[in-house]
Amino acid sequence: EFGEDQGDEADLVPRPPVVTVMGHVDHGKTKLLDTIRNTNVAAREAGGITQHIGAYQVTTTLDGEERKITFIDTPGHEAFTAMRARGAQVTDIAVLVVAADDGVKPQTIEALNHARAADVPVVVAVNKIDKEGADPIKVRSQLTEYDLVAEEYGGSTLFVDISAKEGIGIDNLLEAILLTADAELDLRANPDMPAQGVAIEAHLDKGRGPVATVLVQRGTLRVGDSIVCGEAFGRVRAMLDDNGKALKEAPPSCPVQVLGLTSVPRAGDNFIVVPDDRVARQIAQQRAARQRSAEMAKSGRRRTLEEMFKDLEKGKVSELKLIIKGDVSGSVEALEDALLKIDVGEEAKLRVLHRGVGAITEYDVNLAMADDNAVIIGFNVRPEVRARELAEREGVDIRYYSVIYQAIEEIEAALKGLLKPEYEEVVTGTAEIREIFRVPKIGNVAGCVVRSGVITRNSKARLIRDGTVVADNLTIESLRRFKDDVTEVREGFECGIGLGYNDIKIEDVIETFEMREKPRA
Ligand code: GDP
Repeated sequence: EFGEDQGDEADLVPRPPVVTVMGHVDHGKTKLLDTIRNTNVAAREAGGITQHIGAYQVTTTLDGEERKITFIDTPGHEAFTAMRARGAQVTDIAVLVVAADDGVKPQTIEALNHARAADVPVVVAVNKIDKEGADPIKVRSQLTEYDLVAEEYGGSTLFVDISAKEGIGIDNLLEAILLTADAELDLRANPDMPAQGVAIEAHLDKGRGPVATVLVQRGTLRVGDSIVCGEAFGRVRAMLDDNGKALKEAPPSCPVQVLGLTSVPRAGDNFIVVPDDRVARQIAQQRAARQRSAEMAKSGRRRTLEEMFKDLEKGKVSELKLIIKGDVSGSVEALEDALLKIDVGEEAKLRVLHRGVGAITEYDVNLAMADDNAVIIGFNVRPEVRARELAEREGVDIRYYSVIYQAIEEIEAALKGLLKPEYEEVVTGTAEIREIFRVPKIGNVAGCVVRSGVITRNSKARLIRDGTVVADNLTIESLRRFKDDVTEVREGFECGIGLGYNDIKIEDVIETFEMREKPRA
């Protein structure tokens, strides 16, 4: 749905870089974002009311040329990672803030690792140089150990000394961002196509209804466009920039607040412009269905491939029949090619009944049933709700993969009769909910004590009430000790856990787990 096609090279024009500010807590991320924004106020039209809408754009000059930079107005890598987890790549450049009086800290490195995982170039803002004890040189040498070498030391990373508080070095930082963008990235987009992008922030406003800040990534978004954003849809009734000024259109890299959606999307949801409201509604409903099924999805049954092999062995069937669904046509083709190359001799053969792109549908399940227990392979896709229900009722085996070789190995093993369940679930930690905190915009956060093992951020989790699983497929979205974000909390310690799931109760148990490779017999 989020197409790659932007037309010809010739249609691409430069777009501003999109920047996320990351770094250790208290090193000045929020202050820096405010300062950059306020420094730029002069360049704005008078009379606007500054509002935090989740992102803003500033204008600066480089080599006499007027240039824009878009800043994501949520400091920290949490939002960055949450969006990435949802498949949205929003950031082009990361500004890594390091307080010169405090130096490199664990979260500095964590932030750096996130930027690297996303393949995003880093500009280092050495902050608080106004403070006594500030040692910007030390910051540079500390980061050298993490292969982040300042240009002046022969490396390729721009370090800029700043004081977010005193407004020192801000222009240099903006310049460094643009220089890094120009040197390392090809930031161009086609403005002449229906807009696509990502929701950065959204909420329900009492007077205005659902309000979403979106970042346009391609094309131009216009008032009157019908859009789908995650499971939300609607027609753009009005667009506002971060000065509250009404816009008629928003080009690539422009963040705008959009009014007119019929429900509130989630941060990280992609949006697209579609031909009309009807199509928008349809897509949104399909997505909602898919989302529900993803929430319901547990790991697929592990039985049928073995059964299938037994049938093969007994000569009851001579073919393993597959239906392959994948997220993009390239992966489906690659997987099909690879599977068809598996050769285990004449006796056991493999046949692909159907292949396609998109969620597993009722059609696929029906086809599998019709053809005597064909197995459905979901490569980075999940079933729609009805398809899942039907598959469960009828015992159709759906197997999920996200790595081609794993699919190949398992199916080859099935064909050879060597199949052992490759993974088993291991509970890694449990925590009991002692208190519930209502956090505006985030939802309920569980005040917990870790009862066993280790609770690790980003790990998979489920919620257990009176011994019954009441919600599965959750994630430890946030993990805090007191005011600090932490990556793990051990048995006996207290912590705050955000699951992105609000229906929690005191005494509920949060259980985290992971799939581990099972040793082969
Ligand atoms: P964040 O947790 O990284 O978002 O940090 P904040 O922006 O909230 O800053 C933490 C504290 O450091 C606040 O009290 C800021 O006023 C202060 N601070 C931020 N930047 C500077 C700076 O350049 N100089 C000084 N002296 N203090 C700063």
